[in-house]
Amino acid sequence: MRDFEASRMKRAGGSPTVALNAKGIRMREEGIDILSFAAGEPDFDTPGSVKTAGIEAIKRNETHYTSAAGIMPLRRRIVRKLREENGIQAEEDGIIVTPGAKPALYQAMMCFLEEGDECMVLTPAYPSYRSGILMAGATYVPVPLRFEDGFRVTRKLLEEKVSSRSKMLIVCSPCNPTGRVLTEEEVRDIAAFVLEHDMLLISDEIYEKLIYDGRRHLSFGAIPEIRDRVITLNGLSKSAAMTGWRIGYSASSPELARVMLKLQQNTVNCTASFTQWAAIPAFDCLDEMEKMRLSYLERRNLICDGLNAIPAITCPRAEGAFYAFFRIDYKGMSSEELADYILEKESILVVPGTAFGEGGERCIRMSFATDSVSLKEAVVRMQRLFA
Ligand code: PMP
Repeated sequence: MRDFEASRMKRAGGSPTVALNAKGIRMREEGIDILSFAAGEPDFDTPGSVKTAGIEAIKRNETHYTSAAGIMPLRRRIVRKLREENGIQAEEDGIIVTPGAKPALYQAMMCFLEEGDECMVLTPAYPSYRSGILMAGATYVPVPLRFEDGFRVTRKLLEEKVSSRSKMLIVCSPCNPTGRVLTEEEVRDIAAFVLEHDMLLISDEIYEKLIYDGRRHLSFGAIPEIRDRVITLNGLSKSAAMTGWRIGYSASSPELARVMLKLQQNTVNCTASFTQWAAIPAFDCLDEMEKMRLSYLERRNLICDGLNAIPAITCPRAEGAFYAFFRIDYKGMSSEELADYILEKESILVVPGTAFGEGGERCIRMSFATDSVSLKEAVVRMQRLFA
């Protein structure tokens, strides 16, 4: 048989975390007691009011197609949220509700990138950025940030990678995997950069509700000079523990949204009707979100304190999101070698930093959205392994 795979799919990488999970499952089947910290999945239940709203919507027979952009009550609620919490002067026509933030990301890349375009990505970064850029036929241009500099973004780093073909920049704050939260100065520098080079900016704000130590989330879409060139991505997967409900959205100018809506109409058609109705009360669950944040904060301290007691490990305190991204200086091992070694010797599943691209060398990502007992056990095992 001939090779049926389209070149665009050959360019796209598979998900490194999915491959790692498969390895963990195999080891579990062999009876090995694996501790897994690979997935980015909240370990809380979805709030009760959301579940009730979903069940009620099904009972009311809200089980048919909705308008492609999403039901108006939800889009209105998202507009209110963006205005009140983010300072973004959003409009209903600029909102597209998608089955998770991932399709919104895919739409933004497929609709505005093509062959000949370059898309810059601050790395280490979420692997789907690179895959999407390559599927769109564009050129992936990483802007590697340095562990030693606390993954700080500077105008100089951006200017070194820009060209006349640069069309888009993707930024994620709070960042998966590094846990960085951009400062006001970094946000200002990035905004000035995209304006000067006439670029689009994708701002992935999915971890917005998970920020620690009094830091503040700043939305690029709130900056008047660039608001028309920003596509804000967000959703309820992380903030309201709703990964399986598949609710995300993009917020942009109505002009950009019109383009993305064509892709939504021709692919998913719309997001599931009853999960859209269930999503509306989720935006009022600020108390539940705060409880989850405090719980993640406790666990962040547990894992960082535990790992920093090991001389070979440097574990910066995540400023946001729920990942510890730390460096291990041990026998000159690469991040892949380290991840394999940790799995083989101590049955702990972690993600090598280089799975997130340039800048992740010698680093490991561990999710701390896992129970404290497993986290404590992991610390004991890591101390034994790297002592
Ligand atoms: N962006 C980032 C940075 C993420 O970590 C994730 C989830 N792992 C997503 C987007 C997509 O989330 P979802 O599709 O569940 O909304």
